[in-house]
Amino acid sequence: MSFPPIREELRGLTPYGAPQLDVPVQLNTNENPYAPSAACVADIARAAGEAAARLNRYPDREFTVLRERLADYLTADLRSTGSDAPGVTAGQVWAANGSNEVMLQVLQAFGGPGRTALSFAPTYSMYPEYARDTHTAWVAGHREHDFTLDPVHARELIEQHRPHVVLLPSPNNPTGTALAPETVTLLCEAVGESGVVVVDEAYGEFRRTGTPTALELLPRHRNLVVTRTMSKAFAAAGLRLGYLAADPAICDAIRVVRLPYHLSATTQAVAVAALDHATELLGGVADLRDERDRTVVWLREQGLQVADSDANFCLFGTFEDRHAVWQGLLDAGVLVREVGPEGWLRVSIGTHEEMATFRDALRHAMHHHGPQGKETTV
Ligand code: PMP
Repeated sequence: MSFPPIREELRGLTPYGAPQLDVPVQLNTNENPYAPSAACVADIARAAGEAAARLNRYPDREFTVLRERLADYLTADLRSTGSDAPGVTAGQVWAANGSNEVMLQVLQAFGGPGRTALSFAPTYSMYPEYARDTHTAWVAGHREHDFTLDPVHARELIEQHRPHVVLLPSPNNPTGTALAPETVTLLCEAVGESGVVVVDEAYGEFRRTGTPTALELLPRHRNLVVTRTMSKAFAAAGLRLGYLAADPAICDAIRVVRLPYHLSATTQAVAVAALDHATELLGGVADLRDERDRTVVWLREQGLQVADSDANFCLFGTFEDRHAVWQGLLDAGVLVREVGPEGWLRVSIGTHEEMATFRDALRHAMHHHGPQGKETTV
């Protein structure tokens, strides 16, 4: 056996991650382009300083204040859609270092040897990694040509595999496609109480007007888990704070597998300070949604296919040689993501100026890097 003595199925694998390149226009990891204001930074620094004065002690293992604040935020988001569904309580909230960690914990509690996790491709590339890392079998169904989910296919696959965890982003990454509430209900009913359905709303706040959040379905389905993150709409990717809302019994199950004190005192303090500035931090969302809609229109005007998007990115194509187009953009200082079905590229929505640079660079790259691919999707 060669060194290091890593698990056999991990041997030779490379870690997940987009290239972190120092380029002027970074549109590859769906970050929010707006940095916090000086006043917000000062408050966050003060909160971190207060936490530092008590660093000799372990943090509140139950992150009580943070859970209350996240519950209030989710309730406000629910109300903003006009929903009169019951609000979210602190007992329904769980948080960890990014929604990636939240979902890994869901797999640790509800997946495992002899159990199955299921999703529909193309989708977020980390899902099969959570499954692999928790020894959970992985099954991927397909999406339609417009990247929506066919409820009949979804139900059939669930009945065939009886998964313990279904992972579904809404909006989906990398396509931007939101799930209809009827589909979420159908999935929760098909899975039944022998499994959980995770609706990953990492990009939920960017949804178009009229697109609902799965939060309003929580009172109806005990097996529904809705995950969110402060990385995207909240413009706090560096904070590493993701969370979920679900039945308190689901949170209790996750408590069994979490590491003690997994959320540091500084993370908790900074997250609460950031929530104090929610209005400012979320302030870019409206502009980003407008910029997204304009980007979709512009890309279509170039004769490209673009998936309808409820997120802060869009998937466009198709290119016979997408890598050449990606490289052409990079040569012009614009980093996008080579992800999704063959021939497609994904661009995160940046500032007005960044998107102007992207458009110029793409025009140039398309001119130099050959014709478009033919009409294909998955
Ligand atoms: N879900 C989806 C669909 C994502 O695209 C991402 C990040 N790219 C995440 C979850 C994880 O985000 P974070 O860990 O920063 O909360």
